[in-house]
Amino acid sequence: MSTPAPATKWKARLLTAVGAAALAVLVTLSGLTATPDAWLYDRLVRGAAPDADPRIVVVDIDQKSLAELGRWPWSRRVHAQLIDRLRLAETKGIAFNVLLSEPALFDPEGDALLARAIGRSGRVVLPVFAEPVQRNGPSVELMPIPEFAASAASLGHAEMALEEDGVARSVYLRAGLGSPHWPALALALLQLDQPSGASTELPGRRLVATELPPASDTDWVRDHEVRIPFTSPPNAFRHVSYTDVLNQRIPTSLLRGNWIVVGVNATGMGQIARAPGQPLTASMSGADYQANLLNMLLKDAAITPMGEGGQALLAALLAALPLLLSILPGLRRVWLPTVLTMVAALVLAVLLLRYGHTWFSPVPALLVLALGASLWLYRLLRRTHKQAQSDALTGLANRNRFDQALDQELRVARRSGQPLSLLVMDIDHFKQLNDSQGHTAGDAALKALGRVLRSRARRPRDLVARLGGDEFAVLLPETSAQAAATIATTIHVDLANLGRKPHGANASASPPFTASIGIHTFQSGDDLGPEDVFDRADAALYRAKQTGRNRSFSHTGEHEPVGVSATRI
Ligand code: GH3
Ligand code: MG
Repeated sequence: MSTPAPATKWKARLLTAVGAAALAVLVTLSGLTATPDAWLYDRLVRGAAPDADPRIVVVDIDQKSLAELGRWPWSRRVHAQLIDRLRLAETKGIAFNVLLSEPALFDPEGDALLARAIGRSGRVVLPVFAEPVQRNGPSVELMPIPEFAASAASLGHAEMALEEDGVARSVYLRAGLGSPHWPALALALLQLDQPSGASTELPGRRLVATELPPASDTDWVRDHEVRIPFTSPPNAFRHVSYTDVLNQRIPTSLLRGNWIVVGVNATGMGQIARAPGQPLTASMSGADYQANLLNMLLKDAAITPMGEGGQALLAALLAALPLLLSILPGLRRVWLPTVLTMVAALVLAVLLLRYGHTWFSPVPALLVLALGASLWLYRLLRRTHKQAQSDALTGLANRNRFDQALDQELRVARRSGQPLSLLVMDIDHFKQLNDSQGHTAGDAALKALGRVLRSRARRPRDLVARLGGDEFAVLLPETSAQAAATIATTIHVDLANLGRKPHGANASASPPFTASIGIHTFQSGDDLGPEDVFDRADAALYRAKQTGRNRSFSHTGEHEPVGVSATRI
């Protein structure tokens, strides 16, 4: 086999690099790896979990509160009382994550009391929910009734961005019907302290281009997508029972100066989601989701998912890197740079997540690299297998391969009833040739014999093998004794002709030599194993050597090379 010229090799590597890069782009854009992306993200983000800010307190509408205050929904008077309590405790602000989209039919006074309490506080933000009118159909915004909306300090959307697997990884810092006009609830709470008109740059992946025409009024439009680094566990915040706050069983110091998130946290009620990396049975309330969002904003820890373009470009670079690196000395074997790049891709993702607050999924690049590594391994195994079955000097089958083939062909011959002929041969006085003309000339003779044998055993199932030293074998399925004898004779003739060629012009030309051949033909009725067949051919070879060399011998008789003078080396 000829090895390709270096220029061709580099061209091939460059082409493969381009192919790998293109494949990585394709995998990234196809979204094929969404599931493993999410799996890896959930594991990596856990390592980046921030502490729960002690200034955040979650007020739970929990089982205990339901037991003490009665069935849900409660009178709006109760909420009014709670907000008053929180105001008197001088809390910093309240995200009241409770749906208040309908007036209380039988208690308008209760609504008025709550609206007044909200107004008195001046620090209450209320949620806006988006709800599809039909499944997958257009949405409507469920706003607090106008009385509440007017007295609230601000409104914010309470969407928990659930993915298909039921996990809430992200939040859209702005969203709304037709345009992303609502800040997320916790963001609205924080923005109470920003002087109106001050526009601080929001983090996150932009999903709405400002130059685009506004979307349809019935579409829920999202923007500023960020991933939340949830605390571990996701409810690591200080939690107090709604009823305990209401009944002043909580020390005021626990509430003073803190951010309050009020929400439902009772089984069978309210919004439920799962935080990344949590077991299937675990759940997180809407209030804890908002608390985590608040925590993220307070700590400036929002994780921005890399845009598709960036993802594709980085994946393409990583996928092509091993082939480009393999130009460097010491990294020629592609597997080493491949393994290094795979590790680097993972480390890069971890570093970007921890220190760059950016999520880049290394999965598409890893997939392409793993595919490349498997192809490379497959080729290596195939080459090794081939090498293990062939003779390095002549390229013929080796003893191992010959033994397998003899065993197999014998079984086929037994079944098919066809004869199987075996020629075993050995160069005559090869030792002398080596001694007188040198090892290189000896090697040339071995190669020349290999070529002659190959040219005389041309059927697809014929096998020519070098058994070792100067001993060769030719296995001829479906070949009669007569035909085998004829082939042996032509081999003698070929070798004699080889000796007659003027040599010296070609450095690799072989010196003249002869060979002795032993033949045995297996007939279907014979009760012989592979060793027996070989031993018989070998015995015939011995007879050929004994009776003067440069001839063939078989059970059916001696075959003198036709037209060959009895030249001896
Ligand atoms: P005979 O006619 O009885 O076969 O005599 P011979 O000298 O050929 O004896 P034998 O077959 O035992 O000799 C084998 C010689 O083959 C011994 C060794 O020097 C030579 N030989 C074995 N392998 C190689 C090889 O790979 N290259 C070369 N040049 N010589 C080899
Ligand atoms: Mg010999």
